[in-house]
Amino acid sequence: MSRVVVAGRNPQDVSSAIGFAKMIADASGSSVVAVALSGGDELGRAVAGIASEAYAISGSGHAPELMLEALGRVAGPDLYAVVSPALKDLTDALARFSAGAGIPMLTEVTEFARGAGGEVTLRRAAMAGRAVAEYSVVPPFAATVAPGRFPAPQPSGTIEVRRLDVGARGPEVLGVEPKRREGVDISSADIVVGVGRGFRSKEDLSLAFRLAELLGAAVGCSRPIAADYGWLPEDRWIGISAKKIRPKLYVALGISGAPQHMAGAMDSKLIAAVNKDKNAPIFQYADYGVIGDLYQVVPALIRRLEELRR
Ligand SMILES: Cc1cc2nc3c(=O)[nH]c(=O)nc-3n(C[C@H](O)[C@H](O)[C@H](O)COP(=O)(O)OP(=O)(O)OC[C@H]3O[C@@H](n4cnc5c(N)ncnc54)[C@H](O)[C@@H]3O)c2cc1C
Repeated sequence: MSRVVVAGRNPQDVSSAIGFAKMIADASGSSVVAVALSGGDELGRAVAGIASEAYAISGSGHAPELMLEALGRVAGPDLYAVVSPALKDLTDALARFSAGAGIPMLTEVTEFARGAGGEVTLRRAAMAGRAVAEYSVVPPFAATVAPGRFPAPQPSGTIEVRRLDVGARGPEVLGVEPKRREGVDISSADIVVGVGRGFRSKEDLSLAFRLAELLGAAVGCSRPIAADYGWLPEDRWIGISAKKIRPKLYVALGISGAPQHMAGAMDSKLIAAVNKDKNAPIFQYADYGVIGDLYQVVPALIRRLEELRR
C-alpha cells in the first residue's frame, strides 16, 4: 500500500497537516504515516484512527537534519506523498528530502485533486496572492500547507507510537548567532516611512529618520535595504517575506512598488509615494504621489514640518 507521510515538530504540527494527508490518502488509497520530533503518547492520541503508523523521533541535533533523516527512514519505496505544515524547519527538511529523492515539491498548497490517470493537480497562490498557480505532478511529491487549512478528522482509538532512533547527518552546526534586531514593531505603527533603493547610501537614511521623527512614524524598508545592503535590520523589512503593515499612512520613499513589497504594505489606509520615475508601479497603489527626486522632496517636507512645529 502506498504511503502518505505527515511530518511535524510535535503532535500539534502533525494535527495541523493531517487533514491534508488524509485527503490525499483517501483519494489515492494510501495509508497515513505520522512522524514527529517529539510527542510520544500525545502523538498517538493525535493521530489514532487516522494514521496507520506513528513515529516519534529520538536523537539529538538540529530539527531539519533530524527530520530529513527520519523521512528517509519512513518514506519507503511506496511513498505517495510527504506533507507538513508550512513552517521553516519542516519546509527545510521536506525541500532537502525532495531534492535528494528527485521528487517535486510545492509549498503552501491550497488545493489537491487526483486525476483519472493518477496524475495529481496541486494549486497554490502566486504573485503575492493575486493569482492561482496550477501544477500537474506525478506522485510521489512533497508539499507543505498552511497549518490547519484542511480540517483534521477526529482521532479515535489507539495507536502504538514507535521510537525512531535517528543520528542526524549533514552539515555540522558550529555556532548559532541571533539575527540583528532593534525591537522595532513597524506592524503596529500608525505611520510608516518606507525607504528603498532610491537612497544612495546608508548615511542618507538619516533623511527618512528625521521625516519619521517629525511625523511620529516608524521607519520600514524594502528587501534590498535589509537583506542585500544590510543598512537596516530585518525587523524593518516590509513585504511578502517579512512584516505586513497596516498603518493609517505609508510614505514610500524611493521604492518601486514591486508586488512582493506591496503584499506587505497594500493594507495601508493611505499611501503616499515619492519616486522620480513617473512609471514606477508604486503610483498605481498611491493615494498621493510626488514625481520627483527624494533628495529634494524629503528635505523640503522636513523644512515644512519643522516650520509648522515652531
Ligand atoms: C521571492 C521574492 C520575495 C521578495 N520579497 C520581498 C519583500 O518581502 N519585500 C520587498 O520589499 N521586496 C521583496 N522582493 C524584492 C522585490 O521584488 C523588489 O526587488 C524590491 O522590493 C525592490 O526594492 P526597491 O523598491 O527598494 O528597489 P527598486 O525596485 O530598485 O526601486 C527603487 C526605486 O527608487 C526610485 N528612485 C531612484 N532614485 C530616486 C530618487 N533620487 N528619488 C526618488 N526615487 C528614486 C526608482 O525610480 C525606483 O522606482 C522579493 C523578491 C522575490 C523574488
